[in-house]
Amino acid sequence: MKEPFFSYDKERLNGLSYIDKPYRIKQVIDFIINKKVYDFTDMSNIPKVVRQKFSECFDILDVQPIDMTQSNDGTKKFLFRTGNGLYIEAVYLKDKNKRITFCISSQSGCRMGCAFCRTSKMGLAGNLSYPQIISQVLFLSKVMADDPEVVDTAFNIVFMGMGEPLDNFDNLVKAIGILTDPDYFGMPQYRITVSTCGIMNMIKPLFEAYPGIMLALSLISASQEKRESVIPMAKKYKLIDMVKILDECHALYDNRITLEYVLIKGFNDSDDDIEELEMFRKDCYHLNIIPLNSNDETRPSETEIKEFMNKLAKSGFNATRRYRRGDDIKADCGQLYWEYI
Ligand code: SAH
Repeated sequence: MKEPFFSYDKERLNGLSYIDKPYRIKQVIDFIINKKVYDFTDMSNIPKVVRQKFSECFDILDVQPIDMTQSNDGTKKFLFRTGNGLYIEAVYLKDKNKRITFCISSQSGCRMGCAFCRTSKMGLAGNLSYPQIISQVLFLSKVMADDPEVVDTAFNIVFMGMGEPLDNFDNLVKAIGILTDPDYFGMPQYRITVSTCGIMNMIKPLFEAYPGIMLALSLISASQEKRESVIPMAKKYKLIDMVKILDECHALYDNRITLEYVLIKGFNDSDDDIEELEMFRKDCYHLNIIPLNSNDETRPSETEIKEFMNKLAKSGFNATRRYRRGDDIKADCGQLYWEYI
């Protein structure tokens, strides 16, 4: 049985009996991360016997692409099957300035049960291992390297694919470790956003591990009652306690926290809803308004979205609107859902 290459840390890799030179592992990692070579046999200037040994023992990618759909706006959605048979989706997003974001899954399915989210309909099929999280990044970074429109080699990662990242904390933290390690991807922490429906007790540990990480909280509503009605986890993790923790984290790490506000017509779009938001300090939170992706009457119209944004601006909130990407291929927020047999 082959093992995932990324399940071995540098020390363990360097201790392998067939490592012939002190720089060998560095060279292999360079092939993978910078040259996007995901097959050991293609690592040209490494002795054949060593390459052979690596291919016998390890797999670099622990995900297989099964399907890909491409949107008119350049968004690409991939369906993967992991080595242990889980199905996940990841999205390659390109904004109008050709800047790239990878939307990565942390779990196959999700057990949070949020009413408005498609992934929750799947239930939880399984946690992803950290090599499986890294594999999605590797796969998409090859897509990026092959994209002639890309102007900058830097990319962002958002853990907004399938799953609740803070419900798979250990693997998330290990994956971020590899992403930010200068010997691996060397990403600055601020390029990585972890989005959570509010697993409150894991927020501080996340910041302790990565003080510069971007945190996004799927707030949806600042009313405890309304929040509970659509996010089952909100019953356990009360908003009032969450705000305390977030304010504390802000004081400690001076980071700006994003509140993701999925705008649902007739549910959280009134003046009272804006008033409720006053519980958040305007100088340390940023509101991201995401019009609900759905096909029914709960989806707000253009006019309603604009009106809500104007009211927010008037009350002094720092708010931006998230534009839909990959709408035509169901790759936009909350739409990732793999319907398998
Ligand atoms: N479990 C995490 C990350 C996955 S959801 C979380 O809850 O944050 C990623 C983002 O999509 C979140 O901001 C979530 O609120 C949003 N989202 C979920 N369903 C949506 C929908 N139907 N329309 C618009 N955004 C949605």
